[in-house]
Amino acid sequence: MERLQGRRTPLRRSLWVVGTYLLVGWLWITFSDYLVQQWFPDPEVLSRVQTYKGALFVLVTGLALFLLLIRQFANDRKLLSLYRHQRKENRELSQFRESVIERANVWINVLDPEGRVVLWNKAAEDISGYPREAVIGSDEIWQQLYPDEENRARIRERANEILRDEGEVVGYETWITTRDGRERQLSWNSRSLRNEAGELAGSIAIGQDITDIRQAENTVRRRERQLSTIMDNLPGMAYRCRYDEFWTMLSVSNGCRELTGYEPDELVNNSLVSYAELIDEACNETILRTVESAIGNAEPFSIEYPITRKDGRKIWVWERGRGVEGEGELVLEGIILDISDRKELEDELSELATRDPLTGVLNRREMTRILEEEVARAKRYDRELAFLWIDFDHFKTINDEHGHAAGDSVLRAASALLAGCVRSVDSVGRFGGEEFVILLPEMDRREALETAERLRRLVSDAPQPLGNGSTVALTISIGVSVFPDHGESADTLCAAADRAMYQAKADGRNRVVLAPLTEEAHNP
Ligand code: GH3
Ligand code: MG
Ligand code: MG
Repeated sequence: MERLQGRRTPLRRSLWVVGTYLLVGWLWITFSDYLVQQWFPDPEVLSRVQTYKGALFVLVTGLALFLLLIRQFANDRKLLSLYRHQRKENRELSQFRESVIERANVWINVLDPEGRVVLWNKAAEDISGYPREAVIGSDEIWQQLYPDEENRARIRERANEILRDEGEVVGYETWITTRDGRERQLSWNSRSLRNEAGELAGSIAIGQDITDIRQAENTVRRRERQLSTIMDNLPGMAYRCRYDEFWTMLSVSNGCRELTGYEPDELVNNSLVSYAELIDEACNETILRTVESAIGNAEPFSIEYPITRKDGRKIWVWERGRGVEGEGELVLEGIILDISDRKELEDELSELATRDPLTGVLNRREMTRILEEEVARAKRYDRELAFLWIDFDHFKTINDEHGHAAGDSVLRAASALLAGCVRSVDSVGRFGGEEFVILLPEMDRREALETAERLRRLVSDAPQPLGNGSTVALTISIGVSVFPDHGESADTLCAAADRAMYQAKADGRNRVVLAPLTEEAHNP
Protein backbone atom coordinates (compact mmCIF):
# COMPACT_ATOMS: atom_id res chain seq x y z
CA MET A 1 0.00 0.00 0.00
CA GLU A 2 2.70 2.43 1.07
CA ARG A 3 4.70 1.38 -1.93
CA LEU A 4 1.77 2.23 -4.23
CA GLN A 5 1.19 5.57 -2.53
CA GLY A 6 4.84 6.26 -2.80
CA ARG A 7 4.75 5.73 -6.55
CA ARG A 8 1.69 7.90 -7.29
CA THR A 9 2.16 11.64 -7.28
CA PRO A 10 -0.50 13.79 -5.49
CA LEU A 11 -1.77 15.13 -8.91
CA ARG A 12 -2.23 11.68 -10.38
CA ARG A 13 -3.92 10.48 -7.23
CA SER A 14 -6.33 13.44 -7.26
CA LEU A 15 -7.12 12.98 -10.99
CA TRP A 16 -7.73 9.29 -10.37
CA VAL A 17 -10.18 10.00 -7.51
CA VAL A 18 -12.04 12.75 -9.45
CA GLY A 19 -12.14 10.60 -12.61
CA THR A 20 -13.62 7.70 -10.63
CA TYR A 21 -16.17 10.09 -9.07
CA LEU A 22 -17.22 11.48 -12.46
CA LEU A 23 -17.47 8.02 -13.96
CA VAL A 24 -19.53 6.65 -11.06
CA GLY A 25 -21.73 9.84 -11.13
CA TRP A 26 -22.32 9.65 -14.88
CA LEU A 27 -23.11 5.87 -14.67
CA TRP A 28 -25.45 6.47 -11.74
CA ILE A 29 -27.28 9.32 -13.44
CA THR A 30 -27.60 7.48 -16.76
CA PHE A 31 -28.72 4.10 -15.41
CA SER A 32 -30.83 5.37 -12.50
CA ASP A 33 -32.68 7.85 -14.83
CA TYR A 34 -33.38 5.05 -17.29
CA LEU A 35 -34.62 2.70 -14.55
CA VAL A 36 -36.91 5.17 -12.76
CA GLN A 37 -38.45 6.23 -16.13
CA GLN A 38 -39.25 2.52 -16.69
CA TRP A 39 -40.62 1.99 -13.18
CA PHE A 40 -42.49 5.34 -12.70
CA PRO A 41 -44.24 6.43 -15.95
CA ASP A 42 -46.33 9.00 -14.12
CA PRO A 43 -44.53 12.35 -14.64
CA GLU A 44 -45.51 13.69 -11.24
CA VAL A 45 -44.22 10.63 -9.35
CA LEU A 46 -41.19 10.53 -11.61
CA SER A 47 -40.26 14.11 -10.77
CA ARG A 48 -40.51 13.31 -6.97
CA VAL A 49 -38.45 10.13 -7.35
CA GLN A 50 -35.86 12.15 -9.34
CA THR A 51 -35.60 14.59 -6.43
CA TYR A 52 -35.20 11.71 -3.87
CA LYS A 53 -32.62 10.07 -6.13
CA GLY A 54 -30.63 13.33 -6.39
CA ALA A 55 -30.74 13.74 -2.61
CA LEU A 56 -29.62 10.08 -2.10
CA PHE A 57 -26.72 10.61 -4.48
CA VAL A 58 -25.61 13.74 -2.64
CA LEU A 59 -25.94 11.88 0.72
CA VAL A 60 -23.97 8.82 -0.41
CA THR A 61 -21.22 10.81 -2.10
CA GLY A 62 -21.11 13.22 0.91
CA LEU A 63 -20.66 10.17 3.23
CA ALA A 64 -17.95 8.72 0.98
CA LEU A 65 -16.19 12.10 0.88
CA PHE A 66 -16.49 12.33 4.66
CA LEU A 67 -14.91 8.87 5.20
CA LEU A 68 -12.18 9.64 2.69
CA LEU A 69 -11.30 12.94 4.36
CA ILE A 70 -11.31 11.40 7.87
CA ARG A 71 -8.92 8.71 6.70
CA GLN A 72 -6.66 11.23 5.01
CA PHE A 73 -6.57 13.62 7.98
CA ALA A 74 -5.85 10.73 10.37
CA ASN A 75 -2.97 9.64 8.14
CA ASP A 76 -1.68 13.20 7.95
CA ARG A 77 -1.75 13.50 11.72
CA LYS A 78 0.11 10.20 12.14
CA LEU A 79 2.74 11.24 9.62
CA LEU A 80 3.14 14.63 11.25
CA SER A 81 3.71 13.14 14.69
CA LEU A 82 6.11 10.57 13.24
CA TYR A 83 7.98 13.35 11.54
CA ARG A 84 8.18 15.39 14.75
CA HIS A 85 9.37 12.34 16.68
CA GLN A 86 12.05 11.59 14.12
CA ARG A 87 13.20 15.19 14.14
CA LYS A 88 13.54 15.06 17.91
CA GLU A 89 15.43 11.79 17.75
CA ASN A 90 17.75 13.13 15.06
CA ARG A 91 18.40 16.22 17.14
CA GLU A 92 19.16 14.09 20.21
CA LEU A 93 21.36 11.75 18.22
CA SER A 94 23.37 14.54 16.74
CA GLN A 95 23.70 16.17 20.19
CA PHE A 96 24.86 12.84 21.55
CA ARG A 97 27.34 12.47 18.69
CA GLU A 98 28.66 15.94 19.27
CA SER A 99 29.07 15.36 22.99
CA VAL A 100 30.81 12.03 22.38
CA ILE A 101 33.16 13.68 19.91
CA GLU A 102 33.68 16.58 22.27
CA ARG A 103 34.35 14.47 25.32
CA ALA A 104 36.36 11.74 23.64
CA ASN A 105 39.83 11.44 25.10
CA VAL A 106 41.22 11.01 21.61
CA TRP A 107 41.97 13.84 19.24
CA ILE A 108 39.18 14.12 16.61
CA ASN A 109 39.26 16.60 13.78
CA VAL A 110 37.39 16.92 10.50
CA LEU A 111 38.94 18.70 7.53
CA ASP A 112 37.25 19.91 4.36
CA PRO A 113 38.63 18.72 0.98
CA GLU A 114 41.05 21.71 0.98
CA GLY A 115 42.51 20.69 4.33
CA ARG A 116 40.77 23.42 6.36
CA VAL A 117 39.63 22.53 9.84
CA VAL A 118 35.86 22.00 10.21
CA LEU A 119 35.76 20.22 13.57
CA TRP A 120 38.31 20.33 16.40
CA ASN A 121 37.40 18.56 19.64
CA LYS A 122 38.49 19.22 23.22
CA ALA A 123 41.20 16.54 23.21
CA ALA A 124 42.65 18.10 20.04
CA GLU A 125 42.74 21.43 21.88
CA ASP A 126 44.35 19.85 24.95
CA ILE A 127 47.00 17.88 23.10
CA SER A 128 47.94 20.52 20.53
CA GLY A 129 47.42 23.56 22.75
CA TYR A 130 45.57 25.33 19.88
CA PRO A 131 41.95 26.41 20.75
CA ARG A 132 39.30 25.72 18.12
CA GLU A 133 38.73 29.46 17.49
CA ALA A 134 42.31 29.64 16.25
CA VAL A 135 42.09 26.72 13.85
CA ILE A 136 38.52 26.40 12.51
CA GLY A 137 38.19 27.49 8.89
CA SER A 138 41.90 27.67 8.19
CA ASP A 139 44.61 25.28 7.10
CA GLU A 140 47.38 27.07 8.99
CA ILE A 141 47.33 24.30 11.56
CA TRP A 142 49.35 22.12 9.21
CA GLN A 143 52.23 24.52 9.40
CA GLN A 144 51.89 24.90 13.14
CA LEU A 145 51.82 21.18 13.89
CA TYR A 146 54.48 20.24 11.35
CA PRO A 147 56.95 23.15 11.11
CA ASP A 148 59.43 21.12 9.09
CA GLU A 149 58.48 21.68 5.47
CA GLU A 150 59.59 18.35 4.10
CA ASN A 151 57.88 16.40 6.85
CA ARG A 152 54.72 18.46 6.42
CA ALA A 153 54.64 17.86 2.68
CA ARG A 154 54.95 14.13 3.22
CA ILE A 155 52.13 14.01 5.77
CA ARG A 156 49.82 16.24 3.66
CA GLU A 157 50.45 14.00 0.70
CA ARG A 158 49.36 11.03 2.80
CA ALA A 159 46.20 12.93 3.82
CA ASN A 160 45.44 13.79 0.19
CA GLU A 161 45.85 10.16 -0.76
CA ILE A 162 43.07 9.31 1.65
CA LEU A 163 40.82 11.93 0.04
CA ARG A 164 41.65 10.75 -3.45
CA ASP A 165 41.39 7.01 -2.90
CA GLU A 166 38.68 7.11 -0.26
CA GLY A 167 41.04 4.84 1.56
CA GLU A 168 41.58 4.44 5.23
CA VAL A 169 44.71 4.82 7.32
CA VAL A 170 45.19 2.89 10.55
CA GLY A 171 48.01 3.48 13.02
CA TYR A 172 49.89 6.14 10.98
CA GLU A 173 52.35 7.72 13.43
CA THR A 174 53.56 11.32 13.34
CA TRP A 175 55.36 13.71 15.68
CA ILE A 176 53.58 17.03 16.16
CA THR A 177 54.90 20.26 17.65
CA THR A 178 52.44 21.66 20.20
CA ARG A 179 51.70 25.33 20.67
CA ASP A 180 54.18 25.51 23.60
CA GLY A 181 56.90 23.87 21.51
CA ARG A 182 56.78 20.34 22.94
CA GLU A 183 56.98 17.28 20.69
CA ARG A 184 54.22 14.67 20.97
CA GLN A 185 53.85 11.40 19.11
CA LEU A 186 50.39 10.58 17.73
CA SER A 187 48.95 7.50 16.12
CA TRP A 188 46.30 8.37 13.51
CA ASN A 189 43.26 6.56 12.17
CA SER A 190 41.83 8.51 9.27
CA ARG A 191 39.30 8.16 6.47
CA SER A 192 37.48 10.29 3.91
CA LEU A 193 33.91 11.56 4.41
CA ARG A 194 31.09 11.85 1.86
CA ASN A 195 27.89 13.86 2.18
CA GLU A 196 24.38 12.52 1.54
CA ALA A 197 24.65 13.29 -2.13
CA GLY A 198 27.78 11.14 -2.28
CA GLU A 199 30.17 14.04 -2.83
CA LEU A 200 33.56 14.21 -1.13
CA ALA A 201 33.07 16.26 2.04
CA GLY A 202 36.53 15.99 3.57
CA SER A 203 38.25 13.66 6.00
CA ILE A 204 38.06 12.70 9.64
CA ALA A 205 41.16 11.94 11.68
CA ILE A 206 41.28 10.33 15.10
CA GLY A 207 44.61 10.70 16.85
CA GLN A 208 45.86 9.02 20.00
CA ASP A 209 48.69 10.58 21.98
CA ILE A 210 51.15 7.67 22.30
CA THR A 211 54.15 9.66 23.55
CA ASP A 212 53.93 8.24 27.08
CA ILE A 213 53.13 4.70 25.92
CA ARG A 214 56.08 4.68 23.52
CA GLN A 215 58.33 6.14 26.20
CA ALA A 216 57.22 3.46 28.68
CA GLU A 217 57.74 0.78 26.02
CA ASN A 218 61.23 2.09 25.33
CA THR A 219 62.03 2.17 29.03
CA VAL A 220 60.83 -1.43 29.45
CA ARG A 221 62.82 -2.51 26.39
CA ARG A 222 65.93 -0.73 27.68
CA ARG A 223 65.52 -2.30 31.14
CA GLU A 224 65.07 -5.74 29.59
CA ARG A 225 68.24 -5.24 27.58
CA GLN A 226 70.15 -4.06 30.65
CA LEU A 227 68.84 -6.97 32.70
CA SER A 228 69.78 -9.54 30.11
CA THR A 229 73.26 -7.96 29.76
CA ILE A 230 73.69 -8.11 33.51
CA MET A 231 72.36 -11.67 33.66
CA ASP A 232 74.63 -12.85 30.86
CA ASN A 233 77.66 -11.26 32.44
CA LEU A 234 76.99 -12.49 35.94
CA PRO A 235 79.45 -15.02 37.26
CA GLY A 236 77.39 -18.20 37.30
CA MET A 237 73.87 -18.86 36.12
CA ALA A 238 70.76 -16.79 36.82
CA TYR A 239 67.62 -18.91 36.64
CA ARG A 240 63.86 -19.05 36.96
CA CYS A 241 62.49 -22.51 37.68
CA ARG A 242 59.35 -24.36 38.70
CA TYR A 243 59.01 -25.49 42.30
CA ASP A 244 58.71 -29.15 41.28
CA GLU A 245 60.64 -32.38 41.69
CA PHE A 246 62.73 -31.72 38.55
CA TRP A 247 63.51 -28.07 39.36
CA THR A 248 62.23 -27.52 35.79
CA MET A 249 64.13 -24.52 34.44
CA LEU A 250 61.86 -21.94 32.75
CA SER A 251 64.76 -19.71 31.76
CA VAL A 252 68.48 -19.61 32.42
CA SER A 253 71.16 -17.05 31.60
CA ASN A 254 74.01 -17.80 29.20
CA GLY A 255 76.18 -18.55 32.24
CA CYS A 256 74.50 -21.97 32.10
CA ARG A 257 77.10 -23.09 29.53
CA GLU A 258 80.09 -22.33 31.70
CA LEU A 259 78.54 -23.63 34.91
CA THR A 260 76.94 -26.89 33.75
CA GLY A 261 78.44 -27.49 30.30
CA TYR A 262 74.89 -27.71 28.91
CA GLU A 263 73.37 -25.22 26.43
CA PRO A 264 70.50 -23.17 27.95
CA ASP A 265 68.12 -24.91 25.50
CA GLU A 266 69.13 -28.32 26.76
CA LEU A 267 68.25 -27.45 30.35
CA VAL A 268 65.15 -25.28 29.86
CA ASN A 269 61.95 -27.33 30.17
CA ASN A 270 64.11 -30.42 30.87
CA SER A 271 64.53 -30.87 27.11
CA LEU A 272 67.73 -32.88 27.46
CA VAL A 273 68.30 -33.08 31.18
CA SER A 274 66.56 -31.74 34.28
CA TYR A 275 68.52 -29.69 36.77
CA ALA A 276 67.53 -32.21 39.47
CA GLU A 277 69.49 -34.88 37.58
CA LEU A 278 72.68 -32.82 37.90
CA ILE A 279 72.41 -32.51 41.65
CA ASP A 280 74.22 -35.02 43.84
CA GLU A 281 71.53 -37.44 44.99
CA ALA A 282 72.67 -37.38 48.60
CA CYS A 283 71.91 -33.63 48.78
CA ASN A 284 68.38 -33.72 47.33
CA GLU A 285 66.67 -34.13 50.67
CA THR A 286 68.60 -31.27 52.34
CA ILE A 287 67.98 -28.94 49.38
CA LEU A 288 64.26 -29.72 49.37
CA ARG A 289 63.96 -29.10 53.10
CA THR A 290 65.93 -25.82 52.94
CA VAL A 291 63.89 -24.47 50.01
CA GLU A 292 60.60 -25.57 51.56
CA SER A 293 61.30 -23.86 54.86
CA ALA A 294 62.53 -20.65 53.15
CA ILE A 295 59.34 -20.49 51.06
CA GLY A 296 57.26 -21.13 54.18
CA ASN A 297 58.94 -18.18 55.91
CA ALA A 298 58.89 -16.03 52.75
CA GLU A 299 62.67 -15.73 52.99
CA PRO A 300 65.48 -16.23 50.48
CA PHE A 301 67.54 -19.42 50.75
CA SER A 302 71.26 -20.14 50.33
CA ILE A 303 72.53 -23.66 49.76
CA GLU A 304 75.77 -25.36 48.77
CA TYR A 305 75.83 -28.71 47.02
CA PRO A 306 77.77 -30.61 44.37
CA ILE A 307 76.53 -31.06 40.78
CA THR A 308 77.82 -33.13 37.89
CA ARG A 309 78.59 -31.18 34.72
CA LYS A 310 77.94 -32.43 31.18
CA ASP A 311 81.63 -33.45 30.91
CA GLY A 312 81.22 -35.57 34.06
CA ARG A 313 83.25 -33.24 36.24
CA LYS A 314 81.87 -32.72 39.72
CA ILE A 315 81.76 -29.12 40.94
CA TRP A 316 80.48 -27.43 44.07
CA VAL A 317 77.88 -24.70 43.63
CA TRP A 318 76.36 -22.07 45.86
CA GLU A 319 72.74 -21.17 45.15
CA ARG A 320 70.77 -18.23 46.43
CA GLY A 321 67.15 -17.84 45.45
CA ARG A 322 63.63 -17.15 46.59
CA GLY A 323 60.08 -18.18 45.81
CA VAL A 324 58.04 -15.70 43.80
CA GLU A 325 54.44 -15.81 42.61
CA GLY A 326 54.52 -15.84 38.80
CA GLU A 327 51.50 -16.24 36.50
CA GLY A 328 49.46 -18.13 39.05
CA GLU A 329 52.15 -20.57 40.15
CA LEU A 330 55.00 -20.46 42.59
CA VAL A 331 58.38 -20.26 40.86
CA LEU A 332 61.94 -19.90 42.13
CA GLU A 333 64.32 -17.20 40.95
CA GLY A 334 67.96 -16.92 41.83
CA ILE A 335 71.57 -17.41 40.93
CA ILE A 336 73.94 -20.39 41.05
CA LEU A 337 77.71 -19.91 41.32
CA ASP A 338 80.63 -22.30 40.92
CA ILE A 339 82.39 -22.38 44.31
CA SER A 340 84.70 -25.33 43.63
CA ASP A 341 87.81 -23.18 44.11
CA ARG A 342 86.52 -21.88 47.42
CA LYS A 343 85.55 -25.38 48.52
CA GLU A 344 89.02 -26.64 47.68
CA LEU A 345 90.56 -23.81 49.67
CA GLU A 346 88.22 -24.50 52.55
CA ASP A 347 89.17 -28.16 52.49
CA GLU A 348 92.84 -27.23 52.47
CA LEU A 349 92.33 -24.81 55.33
CA SER A 350 90.38 -27.32 57.33
CA GLU A 351 93.10 -29.88 56.60
CA LEU A 352 95.68 -27.37 57.82
CA ALA A 353 93.63 -26.62 60.89
CA THR A 354 93.16 -30.26 61.86
CA ARG A 355 96.30 -32.06 60.62
CA ASP A 356 99.87 -32.12 61.83
CA PRO A 357 101.94 -30.67 58.99
CA LEU A 358 104.93 -33.01 59.47
CA THR A 359 103.21 -36.36 59.71
CA GLY A 360 99.74 -35.73 58.29
CA VAL A 361 98.02 -37.36 61.28
CA LEU A 362 95.50 -35.35 63.36
CA ASN A 363 96.91 -32.49 65.43
CA ARG A 364 96.50 -32.21 69.18
CA ARG A 365 93.51 -29.84 69.04
CA GLU A 366 91.51 -31.97 66.57
CA MET A 367 92.49 -35.15 68.40
CA THR A 368 91.26 -33.68 71.72
CA ARG A 369 88.00 -32.65 70.07
CA ILE A 370 87.44 -36.13 68.66
CA LEU A 371 88.38 -37.73 71.97
CA GLU A 372 85.79 -35.61 73.81
CA GLU A 373 83.18 -36.42 71.17
CA GLU A 374 83.91 -40.17 71.34
CA VAL A 375 83.88 -40.20 75.17
CA ALA A 376 80.46 -38.50 75.09
CA ARG A 377 79.20 -41.04 72.55
CA ALA A 378 80.59 -44.00 74.53
CA LYS A 379 78.87 -42.63 77.62
CA ARG A 380 75.57 -42.13 75.77
CA TYR A 381 75.51 -45.61 74.26
CA ASP A 382 77.24 -47.29 77.20
CA ARG A 383 80.13 -48.52 75.04
CA GLU A 384 83.83 -49.01 75.76
CA LEU A 385 86.64 -46.95 74.29
CA ALA A 386 90.42 -47.52 74.37
CA PHE A 387 93.14 -44.86 74.29
CA LEU A 388 96.82 -45.49 73.54
CA TRP A 389 99.63 -43.07 74.44
CA ILE A 390 102.80 -43.77 72.45
CA ASP A 391 106.29 -42.33 73.02
CA PHE A 392 109.33 -43.22 70.89
CA ASP A 393 112.18 -44.71 72.86
CA HIS A 394 115.47 -42.80 72.97
CA PHE A 395 114.40 -40.63 70.10
CA LYS A 396 116.80 -37.94 71.15
CA THR A 397 119.63 -40.33 70.31
CA ILE A 398 118.34 -40.71 66.73
CA ASN A 399 118.31 -36.95 66.38
CA ASP A 400 121.72 -36.68 67.92
CA GLU A 401 123.26 -39.41 65.80
CA HIS A 402 121.59 -38.84 62.42
CA GLY A 403 120.42 -35.27 62.52
CA HIS A 404 117.05 -33.56 62.96
CA ALA A 405 115.98 -34.15 59.36
CA ALA A 406 116.53 -37.88 59.73
CA GLY A 407 114.52 -37.71 62.98
CA ASP A 408 111.70 -36.08 61.01
CA SER A 409 111.88 -38.84 58.43
CA VAL A 410 111.56 -41.46 61.17
CA LEU A 411 108.64 -39.53 62.69
CA ARG A 412 106.85 -39.50 59.32
CA ALA A 413 107.49 -43.17 58.56
CA ALA A 414 106.59 -44.47 62.01
CA SER A 415 103.38 -42.41 62.22
CA ALA A 416 102.36 -43.63 58.74
CA LEU A 417 103.03 -47.19 59.86
CA LEU A 418 100.82 -46.71 62.94
CA ALA A 419 98.04 -44.95 60.99
CA GLY A 420 98.07 -47.68 58.33
CA CYS A 421 97.58 -50.47 60.82
CA VAL A 422 94.44 -49.34 62.62
CA ARG A 423 90.75 -49.55 61.63
CA SER A 424 89.11 -46.77 59.67
CA VAL A 425 87.02 -45.83 62.73
CA ASP A 426 90.19 -45.32 64.80
CA SER A 427 91.93 -41.94 64.98
CA VAL A 428 95.67 -41.35 65.11
CA GLY A 429 97.03 -38.01 66.35
CA ARG A 430 100.32 -36.37 67.24
CA PHE A 431 100.23 -34.83 70.67
CA GLY A 432 103.62 -33.15 70.35
CA GLY A 433 107.30 -34.11 69.80
CA GLU A 434 107.47 -37.87 69.28
CA GLU A 435 104.35 -38.57 71.29
CA PHE A 436 101.38 -40.03 69.44
CA VAL A 437 97.92 -41.09 70.61
CA ILE A 438 95.44 -43.54 69.10
CA LEU A 439 91.72 -43.59 69.85
CA LEU A 440 90.03 -46.99 69.46
CA PRO A 441 86.21 -46.73 69.77
CA GLU A 442 84.23 -49.74 71.03
CA MET A 443 87.31 -51.61 72.19
CA ASP A 444 87.72 -53.27 75.57
CA ARG A 445 90.88 -53.77 77.66
CA ARG A 446 91.83 -57.08 76.15
CA GLU A 447 91.46 -55.98 72.54
CA ALA A 448 93.20 -52.71 73.30
CA LEU A 449 96.20 -54.49 74.81
CA GLU A 450 96.33 -56.82 71.79
CA THR A 451 96.24 -53.89 69.40
CA ALA A 452 98.92 -51.99 71.33
CA GLU A 453 101.11 -55.06 71.40
CA ARG A 454 100.63 -55.57 67.67
CA LEU A 455 101.67 -51.98 66.97
CA ARG A 456 104.68 -52.19 69.27
CA ARG A 457 105.88 -55.30 67.51
CA LEU A 458 105.23 -53.81 64.11
CA VAL A 459 107.46 -50.82 64.84
CA SER A 460 110.24 -52.78 66.50
CA ASP A 461 110.24 -55.28 63.59
CA ALA A 462 110.46 -52.64 60.88
CA PRO A 463 113.65 -50.55 60.60
CA GLN A 464 112.66 -46.92 60.03
CA PRO A 465 114.04 -44.97 57.06
CA LEU A 466 116.30 -42.03 57.84
CA GLY A 467 115.66 -40.43 54.48
CA ASN A 468 119.21 -40.93 53.27
CA GLY A 469 118.81 -44.52 52.15
CA SER A 470 119.73 -46.10 55.47
CA THR A 471 117.44 -47.14 58.28
CA VAL A 472 117.45 -47.19 62.04
CA ALA A 473 115.84 -49.50 64.57
CA LEU A 474 113.08 -47.92 66.59
CA THR A 475 111.02 -49.09 69.53
CA ILE A 476 108.03 -47.50 71.19
CA SER A 477 106.52 -47.54 74.67
CA ILE A 478 102.71 -47.59 74.92
CA GLY A 479 100.40 -46.72 77.81
CA VAL A 480 96.82 -47.99 77.52
CA SER A 481 93.70 -46.65 79.21
CA VAL A 482 90.09 -47.73 78.66
CA PHE A 483 86.77 -45.96 79.15
CA PRO A 484 85.13 -46.27 81.62
CA ASP A 485 87.66 -48.39 83.60
CA HIS A 486 90.39 -45.71 83.79
CA GLY A 487 88.33 -42.57 83.67
CA GLU A 488 85.11 -41.13 82.34
CA SER A 489 86.49 -37.96 80.79
CA ALA A 490 88.98 -37.16 78.04
CA ASP A 491 91.38 -35.63 80.59
CA THR A 492 91.39 -38.57 83.01
CA LEU A 493 91.78 -41.07 80.16
CA CYS A 494 94.74 -39.07 78.77
CA ALA A 495 96.37 -38.76 82.17
CA ALA A 496 95.92 -42.50 82.87
CA ALA A 497 97.42 -43.51 79.48
CA ASP A 498 100.28 -41.01 79.92
CA ARG A 499 101.07 -42.44 83.36
CA ALA A 500 100.95 -45.99 82.01
CA MET A 501 103.38 -44.96 79.22
CA TYR A 502 105.82 -43.61 81.83
CA GLN A 503 105.46 -46.91 83.66
CA ALA A 504 106.41 -48.69 80.41
CA LYS A 505 109.53 -46.48 80.17
CA ALA A 506 110.34 -47.22 83.75
CA ASP A 507 109.87 -50.95 83.14
CA GLY A 508 112.56 -50.87 80.44
CA ARG A 509 110.85 -49.40 77.34
CA ASN A 510 109.62 -51.22 74.15
CA ARG A 511 106.57 -52.48 76.00
CA VAL A 512 102.84 -52.00 76.60
CA VAL A 513 101.43 -51.15 80.01
CA LEU A 514 97.76 -51.03 80.92
CA ALA A 515 96.83 -48.22 83.30
CA PRO A 516 96.10 -49.44 86.81
CA LEU A 517 92.38 -49.71 87.63
CA THR A 518 90.83 -47.00 89.77
CA GLU A 519 89.10 -47.81 93.08
CA GLU A 520 85.61 -47.55 91.56
CA ALA A 521 86.62 -49.76 88.68
CA HIS A 522 87.82 -52.41 91.14
CA ASN A 523 84.52 -52.27 93.06
CA PRO A 524 81.83 -51.24 90.58
P1 GH3 B 1 112.66 -41.64 76.13
O1 GH3 B 1 112.89 -43.03 75.70
O2 GH3 B 1 112.81 -41.42 77.53
O3 GH3 B 1 111.42 -41.09 75.60
O4 GH3 B 1 113.86 -40.87 75.47
P2 GH3 B 1 113.74 -39.75 74.45
O5 GH3 B 1 115.04 -39.45 73.87
O6 GH3 B 1 112.71 -40.06 73.43
O7 GH3 B 1 113.31 -38.59 75.32
P3 GH3 B 1 112.08 -37.60 75.12
O8 GH3 B 1 110.90 -38.30 74.74
O9 GH3 B 1 112.01 -36.77 76.38
O10 GH3 B 1 112.61 -36.67 73.99
C1 GH3 B 1 111.91 -36.37 72.84
C2 GH3 B 1 112.82 -35.89 71.79
O11 GH3 B 1 112.22 -35.88 70.51
C3 GH3 B 1 113.28 -34.48 72.02
C4 GH3 B 1 113.42 -33.87 70.67
O12 GH3 B 1 114.78 -33.71 70.28
C5 GH3 B 1 112.82 -34.87 69.78
N1 GH3 B 1 111.84 -34.23 68.97
C6 GH3 B 1 110.66 -33.64 69.37
N2 GH3 B 1 109.98 -33.14 68.31
C7 GH3 B 1 110.73 -33.44 67.22
C8 GH3 B 1 110.54 -33.18 65.85
O13 GH3 B 1 109.56 -32.61 65.38
N3 GH3 B 1 111.52 -33.61 65.01
C9 GH3 B 1 112.62 -34.25 65.44
N4 GH3 B 1 113.53 -34.64 64.55
N5 GH3 B 1 112.79 -34.48 66.72
C10 GH3 B 1 111.88 -34.11 67.62
MG1 MG C 1 108.78 -37.88 74.57
MG1 MG D 1 110.75 -40.44 73.77
